[in-house]
Amino acid sequence: MFIKEINSDLTYRIDKYYNITFVNDAWNEFAIENKGSHLLSEFVVGKNLFDFITCPATSNLYKMLLNKVRNTQKLISFSFRCDSQDKKRFMKMVINPLNNGGFEFVSIILSEESMDIISTVFSETKKENKLLTTCSWCNKIKLDDKWIDIEKAIEILDLFGVNYNNIPLLSHGMCEICFLEHVKEI
Ligand SMILES: [Zn+2]
Repeated sequence: MFIKEINSDLTYRIDKYYNITFVNDAWNEFAIENKGSHLLSEFVVGKNLFDFITCPATSNLYKMLLNKVRNTQKLISFSFRCDSQDKKRFMKMVINPLNNGGFEFVSIILSEESMDIISTVFSETKKENKLLTTCSWCNKIKLDDKWIDIEKAIEILDLFGVNYNNIPLLSHGMCEICFLEHVKEI
């Protein structure tokens, strides 16, 4: 097994209506290498990000992340796995707020490891589809009775990695902190 260090950040930007305004060259190269030629700039720029995210649970997750970045005007970052058929790929995503109300997504490939097909087959563990409770006020997610930041939950549950196609359904609630804030206001 060998580990390759790569430094080619995949970047795309969307405007405040979630329309894709830009993808960089590294994105295009990555799309070609990974049989994603339908994701080349000429096919995606001008389209809405949510045209490409067909799963409602995944769309919700993206919207929660973007709301958080919009409300705080601070970047969010989290790590995730994005494996190809023969490679383990460790990646990090950064979502930056832009001045025009839009967002920039930067996916950084931290490292890649080759893996043999057998280990890929055995890593297909059975997934359970559970319900996640989110706080509608601060977007935190409840895990093991603790409320944690959404980007941390994505890392822990690997929602942008192996569980990307198996994102739990979200139910909406209110965390204790927001509850107390809310009670104070009444
Ligand atoms: Zn809350």
